[in-house]
Amino acid sequence: MAHPKTERTLVIVKPDGIQRALIGEIIRRYERTGLKLVALKMLIPTEAMIEEHYLLDPNWKKSVGEKAISSYVKKGEKPPSTDPIEVADSVVVSLKKYMTSGPVIAMVWEGGHAVELVRKITGSTEPRSASIGTIRGDFVLDSYQMADTDTRAIRNLIHASGTVPEAEKEIPHWFKPEEIIRYHVPHEATLYDVDMKGILE
Ligand code: GDP
Ligand code: MG
Repeated sequence: MAHPKTERTLVIVKPDGIQRALIGEIIRRYERTGLKLVALKMLIPTEAMIEEHYLLDPNWKKSVGEKAISSYVKKGEKPPSTDPIEVADSVVVSLKKYMTSGPVIAMVWEGGHAVELVRKITGSTEPRSASIGTIRGDFVLDSYQMADTDTRAIRNLIHASGTVPEAEKEIPHWFKPEEIIRYHVPHEATLYDVDMKGILE
């Protein structure tokens, strides 16, 4: 098994993140953990890129629909449909509109447990219920209810890969291998080296 310090994850600052002037804040929150930024670009995605991105994982549709339905049920509200695939199909349509509405910033972050750590810092899908201290919990307020009432995607500032296999499929969808840079930063020695050598004079 590869060492966990080599793990990589895809992050996209969505169009609302750029409109809200949160690029620096978002990067700061990942950077200060010790994770390393190894690729970055600004672009306006096409609808095809977004559809392909969300359908890279054949199980995504079912899980996105189930997550939405259970969020309604938990709050005692009525979901727009009880069929997860139907919910997911309309989410894909809304996501294509949302994600192509302006520039986004795509990034690859690398380091120990990058996928899990970035998700923890990002917070859960619905800002309304995302924990305080997470980016989605601190900087935005959207809900399943508001988004679905207006037939649009939940505006939650960021995409972050959900699992290691998801990251492994998503990274090559957004970046060519030569766009990902291999380099060292000094603090990696403190984070990962087996011995804390070379500190004392
Ligand atoms: P994420 O991994 O936390 O981003 O969430 P998912 O992969 O489950 O969903 C992808 C994106 O679709 C989310 O970030 C939201 O922008 C949007 N979304 C997900 N579920 C719903 C939903 O039930 N309704 C609406 N309107 N948008 C949704
Ligand atoms: Mg996801």
